[in-house]
Order: sequence, then C-alpha cells, then structure tokens
Amino acid sequence: MKFISTRGGESVTAARAIVQGIASDGGLFVPETFPAVSGEELAAMLAMDYAERTAFVLKKYLDEYDADELLAAIREAYSRFDDGDAAPLVRVENGMYMLELYHGPTCAFKDMALTVLPYLLRKGCDLCGIKEEVLILVATSGDTGKAALEGFKDAKGVKITVFYPDEGVSKMQRLQMCTQEGDNVNVVAIKGNFDDCQTGVKKIFSSKECVEKLKAKNIVLSSANSINFGRLAPQIAYYFSAYCDLVSSQQIAMGDKVDFTVPTGNFGNILAAYYAKRMGLPVGKLVCASNENNVLTDFWKKGIYDCKRPFRLTMSPSMDILVSSNLERLVFELSGRNTALTAERMNSLAGKGKYSVTPEELKAYRELFYAGYAGEEDTVECIYEFFMDYGYPMDTHTGVAMKVAQEYAAFVEEDNETEAHPMVVVSTASPYKFPQAVYYALTGNDVKDSFKGIKRINLITAMKVPESLKAIRYKPVRFKTCVPPAKMFDEVLNFIG
Ligand SMILES: *Cc1c(COP(=O)(O)O)cnc(C)c1O
Repeated sequence: MKFISTRGGESVTAARAIVQGIASDGGLFVPETFPAVSGEELAAMLAMDYAERTAFVLKKYLDEYDADELLAAIREAYSRFDDGDAAPLVRVENGMYMLELYHGPTCAFKDMALTVLPYLLRKGCDLCGIKEEVLILVATSGDTGKAALEGFKDAKGVKITVFYPDEGVSKMQRLQMCTQEGDNVNVVAIKGNFDDCQTGVKKIFSSKECVEKLKAKNIVLSSANSINFGRLAPQIAYYFSAYCDLVSSQQIAMGDKVDFTVPTGNFGNILAAYYAKRMGLPVGKLVCASNENNVLTDFWKKGIYDCKRPFRLTMSPSMDILVSSNLERLVFELSGRNTALTAERMNSLAGKGKYSVTPEELKAYRELFYAGYAGEEDTVECIYEFFMDYGYPMDTHTGVAMKVAQEYAAFVEEDNETEAHPMVVVSTASPYKFPQAVYYALTGNDVKDSFKGIKRINLITAMKVPESLKAIRYKPVRFKTCVPPAKMFDEVLNFIG
C-alpha cells in the first residue's frame, strides 16, 4: 500500500513512511485508501488473541512486512504487558465499559504502539535499504518519552533523544524518564511547554542544515511521535479488539454500533478510532475529551482552530497541548482529501496560529465526533464519585474522559436526533502514574512524595501497584540537563558526539 502526504508532495511505501516519520513537505503520511475489514473478517477476529488481532489489522496497511515475522514481533512486544491481555475491556455497568490500555511497561497507552514501533522501524530500514544509524527525536508531554525510551533502549543501530517540558510533566513522569537505563538514550528538559518541544523537534527535521550535519556523521532522523504512521497503526487494533470483546461477551450483537470516548491531546488515539471506523468497524460517535486546554472543543463549536490562547498546566499533563498535530489527518479527510487546502490551513496555523473550516465541513466533523472538556475541579469530583459508585479508580486523563462521557450521555438523552449506543471509555494511564493528583481526588488531601502517594492509593483502592513504578524509587537519576528551546540541536550534537 502507498502512503501519501496530506500536503500533496509525496507518495511512498509503508516502510518508507514509518522510517521517515513525516513527509518532506511537512505533511503527514496517510494511506492512499482505507483498507476494508469485511463482516466475515471481523467475525474471524473473535477467535483471535490480542496479538493476532493487531497483526491482522497492521498487515492491511503494511503489506511489505512478512506476516509471520510481524505477528512474532507483536507477540513479543505484548508479552511485556501485565497479565495475558494487552488491552482488557472492563464492564462497569450495563452499556458502560473501560478499555484499559495502561498495562504495559510504562503504565500509559503509549506502550501499545511504542513496544511495536522498534520492530516496524528496524524492518522498515531493511526494506528501504537504509544502512545509516537512526536517531529518534521525541517531543513528549510525559508519557511518549518514557514509552519510547523503554521501547528503544539498547536497540541496535538506533539512538534516541527525548525532550520534555521542564515544568510540564508530573513528578513520576520525570522520574521515569530521568532514571532510564540504556547506552543509546538521552533525556533533556526544555525551558518551555510541550508545544515548544514539539516545534523544536519539527524544526530540526525540516532544517536542511541539521539534516546535512547528521548525514555527515552517517545518521538519519526518525520520529517516534504520534505523527508517525507506525504509532497510529497499532492503536487502530485495540478498537477492533474492544469491539470483538463486546461481541464475544454478548454485551452487543455483531453489527451493533459502539461509541468511544477518548481523552485527547495530540489527537493520535482518537484518530486511530476514526481510522477503525473508516475500515468498517461499526463505530457510532467518537467523543473527543479535552482538559482546560480546550482548543479542540472550541474547534468543534465554531469551526475555527485557534491556538492563540494561554497554555494551562493541568493535572492531566499528557493532554496539555494546544497544537494537536494529528488533527491534520482528519482535516485532510474531511476536506475531501484536498492537499492544497490542507497545506494552506496548516501554513495558516504555523503563521497566524489559526485556520477555519467551511460550515459544510463542520457539519461532517459534528456528525462523526462530539467534543467536550472537563475543568480541574470537575475532573477531581468525577474521579472521586466514580470510585465511590463503582470502586473503580481512574487516573486524571481518564477522569477527564469520564466527565465528558457523562456530559455526552446527558446530551444524548435530551437530543432526539442522536442515537444512544454502548459507551467505551478509553483508559489511558494507571492511577499510580499520577499519585499526587489521584490521591487528592480520592481523599482531598495532599501528599508530596510520589511513593508515599502510591502506597496510600494502594491502601484505599487495593489495586495492584505496577512493578515498574515501584522499582524507580531505587534507581539513580541519570539525566539532569535543562536547556532553552534554541539549544535543542546542540544537545543532539553533544549526544551523538
Ligand atoms: C498521550 C496521552 C493522552 C493523549 O493522547 P493523544 O493521542 O495525544 O490524543 C491521553 N492520556 C494519556 C495518559 C496520555 O499519555
């Protein structure tokens, strides 16, 4: 299958799209057409385990990859998850389910893709005949960084540098990254917010001078951010898997529609749900949940994407984003795949901080998605009440999603034109990853020390503490550098020597 740029400049193979990460015209790679999963194929997926379902979905896009090898790599990746199932679906009550995506090595949903990406990239390099060393640059709002470090640590022929906003991640997220082991990893704090990190990384990618300097050292750049199709593809699979689990457990009949609520930042996770729908999965509404950085909620209200506004630090830091990169792929689709118009809008975003879509387009956005946001107090209250009502602890990002899912349920009840479906809320992180905020939500009390917080949450909820988080307490901090955004490339050069 071919992949094309949303901005029209390029058409490449899947392997090339994954290795390159971003198109040379600055656009994002999208499949030339959406491969279909037929009713019979969906029925056949019921009998598959999680790794098989993922391999099946990936193979639809990655036709040059060997099927057996792909399955083996995926099986290996998900064997590092707790329990037998990488993406368990939990029933809370009739018609309401949680899709838990945080049972991987770093306790956030980023593991779903970043445990598989190293294989996709290595194999992609082989398929493209790339002999150079690969340098992966990551901008992170907290969770991608750790998951990428863990995925690529000690990988052959690969080096990785992660940039995170100095004051924009939780204590536990910082500790997870700065204690990372491996000889090929580097972690740098940036004096700025996530958007500064993301812009800095994009600048390095698009700077001829930087690329030439690296080439002279026999190094090519790649990205592990969610703009990389290799990140998106494994995420499509869990929507199929959740659907299969609902059918298998007789919660729904085959063909019934299901809604999903997704806590959203860079628009990668929820875009994967949209791709699943385009492939034929019976999806009803996609509910896009934001925190106080509610650019997307306003976009769905007015048809204007406007990121010129204060950046807010919230207790759901992985969603503290004003420029949702993956939205470009949806803008492209809903413009009727108009590459010139997409390029114009993205240039307007880069230059003026905003762009708008037509009223006809906005109608399509609203038919497919519902968008809402939750403030800090509402999120805290939602986590508390949900635990009281169902004994189910949620992290802060999932709390945002649940609050918006409840708002959506109330909306559907009022609105005669919108059909009600079973709702799956996507749970993106372990509560233990944000111990201070979750402890505060559950008790109204503060706790300074992360590990004390973990212990107390465990006493209250009796939920198992992930071994990977316990272990961090005794690991030395290896990375302490903090630089302004302008110095990012210098740090890269320092690291590769
Ligand atoms: C990354 C992340 C999100 C946001 O996902 P996007 O794909 O960027 O929209 C939500 N919750 C958690 C815990 C995350 O790590």
